[in-house]
Amino acid sequence: MTEPLIYELSTPGRKGAVLPEADVPHYELPEQLLRKNLPLPEVSQIDVTRHFTRMSQANMSIDTTMYPLGSCTMKYNPRINEDVARMPGFAALHPLQDGATAQGALYLMYQLQAFLAEIAGFAAVSLQPAAGAHGELTGILIMRAYHRDRGDSKRTRMLIPDSAHGTNPASSAMAGLQVVQLPSDSRGNVDLEALKANLDDTVCGLMITNPNTLGMFEEHIEEVVNLVHAAGGLVYGDGANMNALLGIAKPGEIGFDVMHYNLHKTFSTPHGGGGPGSGPVAVAKHLEDFLPGPIVRIKPGSEKDADENGVPLYEWRQPAKSIGRMRAFAGNFGMLVRAYTYIRVHGAEGLRAVSQNAVLNANYVQARIKHVYPVPQGDRHCMHEFVAQGKFEDAPGVRALDIAKRLMDYHFHPPTNYFPLIVSEALMIEPTETESKQTLDQYIAALLAIADEAETTPDVVTTAPHTAPMRRLDEVRAAKELVLCCTFEPTA
Ligand SMILES: *Cc1c(COP(=O)(O)O)cnc(C)c1O
Repeated sequence: MTEPLIYELSTPGRKGAVLPEADVPHYELPEQLLRKNLPLPEVSQIDVTRHFTRMSQANMSIDTTMYPLGSCTMKYNPRINEDVARMPGFAALHPLQDGATAQGALYLMYQLQAFLAEIAGFAAVSLQPAAGAHGELTGILIMRAYHRDRGDSKRTRMLIPDSAHGTNPASSAMAGLQVVQLPSDSRGNVDLEALKANLDDTVCGLMITNPNTLGMFEEHIEEVVNLVHAAGGLVYGDGANMNALLGIAKPGEIGFDVMHYNLHKTFSTPHGGGGPGSGPVAVAKHLEDFLPGPIVRIKPGSEKDADENGVPLYEWRQPAKSIGRMRAFAGNFGMLVRAYTYIRVHGAEGLRAVSQNAVLNANYVQARIKHVYPVPQGDRHCMHEFVAQGKFEDAPGVRALDIAKRLMDYHFHPPTNYFPLIVSEALMIEPTETESKQTLDQYIAALLAIADEAETTPDVVTTAPHTAPMRRLDEVRAAKELVLCCTFEPTA
């Protein structure tokens, strides 16, 4: 892709839209509602089509390439999800519509609450939070409300392993807690001695990701949970890595008190570019009353009015000691429809197979590259992802960033890099279950070829990408200072 992306296409007088004949009476709009100067682009249909098609091809996407972005679970988004989300009964609902006139939507939400409670072994679920980080804030506010409700108000410290995603300490700080970082041990588990040393009656809880961001299942998870509980704290599970556990292990049964899901990761609702996401929160029985509402329940006594399919009436309810709303309306409903569809299409056996194949794929890639790319935890089996290092003894000038960029020339989206922070030159690779062995083999071949290039022609690697419309950007500025109108020169 070396053509320039031209943004200024307007030519006075050119038109692309053909408006249908009005089938309502003609009225003049009030003067004050009309803008005098509204410089809309004047373009033909073919200009618009080509412009947006080119734009869509300038980015890498899961529809064009394997996207092994560790921790993000960039699996293929099945098209049936989109078909269902576009059904008029869902797509055309008004968020202020009375629940009595949206029974199908409430039924779907009720079922999804139940599925999510079952999958992770919890008692109840709120679908409100709009993303994983928002779910974290929600879960932490629930933990605080629980302690306060018991008159235990001095619990203001949150323990968080150093492998955690940055949102964990950020959400804790936003909820007014003091963050205490716990080190990891040499096998990639949370350091038990450090945990014990930090447990006392000021601990609100522990936030832990399992499998953690090294792709390792916490080997002492039951002991960790018991220690925290014995000190009166609660255990928060960051559920971003549920793609490794579906149908295999239930955090609620391990003893976690609260967990968020990332529907946009585990349950294939599309993500990237900032949204929309969905981060439902699941809780154990003792936290149920604190959930943000409204949540959907069967209207008491309505079973007797069930329709011919046995479907009763559903209604909104605010839990007794609810922390309140976390968001307007009923969550990102379109995402809920997609996740529900994904779960129904797979069924219990299918979801279990998702996790089995996700773990198999990650271990396959790890096993085939670790002789070239160091894997600090390479003596263990990984879960659905693993962390390698982008550094070679024979090519000291080549870094993880260079390898990530060079992969784009081989038509692969870069892996997550420089996270987790505790591994230097981290390349965090999560193939997901939706990639075939053929694609994984191509990916492995690309990684091995780049390792060779690093030794023989390092300049090719350190100046990559050579085929993308843009080379190396200041990624922070590019995201913070969007330039939506520009013409730029193609790279050579
Ligand atoms: C993605 C992720 C989060 C944050 O979730 P968002 O939906 O992006 O807000 C938190 N923790 C881990 C481990 C993650 O991978």
